[in-house]
Amino acid sequence: MDDFDPASLDADKALQTILKTITSTNETEKLPIRDTLGRALAEDISSKINVPGHTNSAMDGYAVNGSEIPQQGTVTLKNIGTAWAGKPFPGETSKGECVRIMTGAAMPANTDTVIIQEHVQVNGDDITIDHANKHGQNVRLAGEDIPMGGQVLRKGKLITPADLGLIASVGISEIEVNKKIRVAFFSTGDELRPVGSKLEVGQIYDSNRYTLHGMLSKLSVEIIDLGVVEDKREAVEEAFLNAANKADVIITSGGVSVGEADFVKETLEKMGEVNFWKVAMKPGRPLAFGKIKNAWFFGLPGNPVSVMVTFYMFVQPALKKLMGLEYKEPLMINASCKTKLRKRPGRVEYQRGILTRNHDNPFEYNVAKTGAQGSGILRSMSDANCFIILPMESSGVEVEDQVQVLPFEAII
Ligand code: AMP
Ligand code: MG
Repeated sequence: MDDFDPASLDADKALQTILKTITSTNETEKLPIRDTLGRALAEDISSKINVPGHTNSAMDGYAVNGSEIPQQGTVTLKNIGTAWAGKPFPGETSKGECVRIMTGAAMPANTDTVIIQEHVQVNGDDITIDHANKHGQNVRLAGEDIPMGGQVLRKGKLITPADLGLIASVGISEIEVNKKIRVAFFSTGDELRPVGSKLEVGQIYDSNRYTLHGMLSKLSVEIIDLGVVEDKREAVEEAFLNAANKADVIITSGGVSVGEADFVKETLEKMGEVNFWKVAMKPGRPLAFGKIKNAWFFGLPGNPVSVMVTFYMFVQPALKKLMGLEYKEPLMINASCKTKLRKRPGRVEYQRGILTRNHDNPFEYNVAKTGAQGSGILRSMSDANCFIILPMESSGVEVEDQVQVLPFEAII
């Protein structure tokens, strides 16, 4: 029971506290829709038009009045013209008439039904239709996608590619979105060397700044990379002040445990309102959260996997809130575990897994852990496509047990 700590904080509780504490700055700007991908919508959008604007044909065929469809047998109608998408038929049909119509063309006056071209017999202008057709078929009604005055999107929605099209479909060219927040980050540790330099004994390359850069790049935020800060009191202090002046959020990795050279904790206690938590989770555990001047602060552990797990579990939801996005719980699924998992009760574990569809039963998923699960083994994240989330009380998993899985697709 070496790392069981009864004084530690629930991971859920930690997230709830963070989300309750932080508040969005709510600064907004109006942008052309193409520039808003990944941002939070800062206004409700409703439509000033019907989409589609006019009742139109869903198929290539013949537009008729539904009352022409015979009860039995067939009837022959006279084709009096053509309606094209974007070039409507100007006249109207009378009894016994029809109009050749293309997909997307507005329905001519007096017509409400389309007979698809494969279901008619054509003889010059004589078009024969039969009783198997239904009144009102193959027609898209005006406003059936979005009615005039109807809500298109609500404030707080993450703008996706579909939303860009949806907004364009109601004729809107610019929308109000939340401004990008500025996120600064740096690594701490005398052992860290930048990539491209030569390593001396005991030194390692700084990889956390690269994973952080990658994770932040997936969000629509402004990234400020402040490099590596030495384990010296003055250096750490200066780095925090600099970051707090430049950014809305500061993220650090390393230096939040109680190691000898961990000045981060000391400096923070002096400079801001910062909480130090031992979160009941693995990997992860030490986590600092608070405020330095006007910047929100997240002090993540140094181990490369811990950085990623704590980022996804705590920092990413917080950033989303600060970006103005409505909170959404990530999608989780159940899977049958194909490897035995060792675990002690008393903390939540985020083991790294490979999730696959069960080929014999497409409604079921299988999951297996990636190799060694140490918090320094970044390969376990690189090989994985999901977290296997083992709850606090779990004392391990046997082969074929059901486990909860959080696909990376749902968070990354
Ligand atoms: P710390 O929390 O500073 O004690 O660091 C815990 C472990 O993570 C140590 O083995 C560090 O060498 C390692 N570590 C800390 N920062 C980084 C980083 N930026 N890149 C890679 N490993 C790191
Ligand atoms: Mg360190």
